[in-house]
Amino acid sequence: MSEILVLVEQVEGEVKKVTLELLTLARTLGTPAAVWAGPGITAEAKARLAEYGAEKIYVAGADDLVDHVVAPKAELLAQLVAASSAAAVLVASTAEGKEIAGRLAIKIDSGVITDAVGLGKGFTADQSIFGGGVNVHARVRKGTPIIAVRPNSTAPVAAAGAGAEEQVSVTLSDAAKATRVVERVKQEKGARPELTEAAIVVSGGRGVGSAENFSIIEGLADALGAAVGASRAATDAGWYPHQFQVGQTGKTVSPQLYIAAGISGAIQHRAGMQTAKTIVAINKDPEAPIFELADYGVVGDLHQVVPQLTEEVRKRK
Ligand code: FAD
Repeated sequence: MSEILVLVEQVEGEVKKVTLELLTLARTLGTPAAVWAGPGITAEAKARLAEYGAEKIYVAGADDLVDHVVAPKAELLAQLVAASSAAAVLVASTAEGKEIAGRLAIKIDSGVITDAVGLGKGFTADQSIFGGGVNVHARVRKGTPIIAVRPNSTAPVAAAGAGAEEQVSVTLSDAAKATRVVERVKQEKGARPELTEAAIVVSGGRGVGSAENFSIIEGLADALGAAVGASRAATDAGWYPHQFQVGQTGKTVSPQLYIAAGISGAIQHRAGMQTAKTIVAINKDPEAPIFELADYGVVGDLHQVVPQLTEEVRKRK
């Protein structure tokens, strides 16, 4: 079977969950081969990749791959596609993954699908487009398919692969080195999962009422082991940091469960969350547009409903 290249997403040597999801999907399409770009691969990371089905692990350890934003990773993948005759390339549909996918598509003259939420036979993909407003079934008809898959589109399932390591040296063009990373600011890793990777997200909007009241949202999130999100109304008001904004101009999330509290459901907010598997809305206005989208709705004051829900979740743990 032909190789399916999976670009590894990692933070300080730790393989991110989305990569395990991609490996799980890759196994349904061919022989998964993980691609590690940059220095710092650890024995644990290799074991993790093999545990989720990587038959091969291409390790390109050059500093250049991480010193120059995204372009070198696209060049690495282009060289690997040419050398390995890969049948497809899977990347995470994150801001960086999508840029890499686009650059790679130009380099190898292939079609690209972004925001895929499922993969099928013949390299078809269920794709969420127009800000999440429309779902289509798509297929790349030119070159080696490049598919960017949203985090949480599938559950990662372990299935041991050989994990055979192959060192790769990459020749980068001057153009790929044009933009240099000058500083990395380490974000404090809180106890909560990363927003775009979380299986459960609890988001608060204008209805939360104040920065202090976001502790209600955080309380429910912590009881559920969830990430906290916010609408733009809440981030613009300074109640919650912008990095947690969900929507068209914020982050795109595809969790198993999305709880929207005090959020009206504007199209720009929906764009970032409507591919969530189950949506629960808590809103005091029964006519709020979010209820059109929600699988479950609670009409009520979030200041009463959310603490009660939190209490109930804690009791059942
Ligand atoms: P509102 O629309 O004001 O809704 C508040 C809701 O809370 C109401 O439905 C109300 O009934 C309910 N409520 C009030 N009090 C309570 C209570 N005590 N209990 C329960 N419910 C209560 N928005 C985003 O979210 N993300 C984006 O990325 C984004 N990008 C944008 C990009 C552009 C170009 C533009 C023009 C807009 C963008 N917006 C975005 C803004 C978007 O249009 C909405 O204004 C915003 O989503 C509204 O946030 P909200 O639902 O929290 O507030």
